[in-house]
Amino acid sequence: MKKICVVGSLNMDLVVTVDRFPQPGETITGREFATYPGGKGGNQAVALGRLGADVLMIGKLGNDLFGEQYLVNLKENSIVLDGVKVEEGVSSGIAVIEVDSTGENHIVIVPGANGKVDRAFIEGNWPLMEQRDIFLFQLEIPIDTVLYAMEKLKKAGKTIILDPAPARILPDEIFLNVDYITPNETEMETLTGIRIKDVDDLKEAGHWLIKKGVKNVIAKAGKKGAYLITSDDFVHVPGFSVKAVDTTAAGDSFNAGFAFALAQGKEIIESIRFANAVGAISTTAKGAQSAMPSLKQVEAFIGQQMR
Ligand code: ADP
Repeated sequence: MKKICVVGSLNMDLVVTVDRFPQPGETITGREFATYPGGKGGNQAVALGRLGADVLMIGKLGNDLFGEQYLVNLKENSIVLDGVKVEEGVSSGIAVIEVDSTGENHIVIVPGANGKVDRAFIEGNWPLMEQRDIFLFQLEIPIDTVLYAMEKLKKAGKTIILDPAPARILPDEIFLNVDYITPNETEMETLTGIRIKDVDDLKEAGHWLIKKGVKNVIAKAGKKGAYLITSDDFVHVPGFSVKAVDTTAAGDSFNAGFAFALAQGKEIIESIRFANAVGAISTTAKGAQSAMPSLKQVEAFIGQQMR
């Protein structure tokens, strides 16, 4: 089995539930408070750990309580921690999330230590990274670092998966390094400037990315599953039918499932199918990392669906 590495963010999500949002200057009493480990990098690493992958995490936490809690969480999910640094003088990355009684939310993200994942950190961890085969990136660490690491990895002949989330416009140089890009519909529109109303638009947006140098576009499409777009192919890989409760981190679970299947030597369509299963299962319970399945669960789920 090939070895995997996630280069990305680690955030603690601080979730407050309220009846309604406060006005500016107003103080209200909330209903409940809870903390959940999150951040797209951490989510993808934990999903991989649950599946039983050999996964190295490259990222930073602050020297605070959240950092300590996050390290325990990574350890519990069997993630290789040699590339996780506790940075002095900065907080851990956090997201303060207020959810009201209608399910609407307000979110403030402070990147904290994630903002300190720089070129020097990649250089320092290069001996560890060099021993890995498949790399997952997202966009919650500095883009300069993402590009720097990708260019080094590309030269070393590694496989690179980019989840272009949160949605933003990217410099062209990024695309030249990417083997698999996995946008959802919003991210696809932001990246390409093409409004997606139907599959023809999706195909056009996919080809826009291919022309920029991406090898394979895997467009995530919620309950519809995903589409593979290459220079010659356009293939719909249908999603699994589930009763979705909370789609938080479905995209992260999908990416982890995809990387895991590739690492096992599966073909691309088969890997997308496996990713659809991991993504679908992750929507069937509340929370981000709490709903991520083990390999046994995924295999049982796929087995059931085929009956
Ligand atoms: P993101 O979470 O990045 O917005 P999607 O909503 O497209 O991305 O979800 C990612 C993947 O998770 C989908 O491609 C699909 O495989 C799976 N998925 C998401 N929502 C559902 C759902 N309601 N039913 C089944 N599968 C889902």
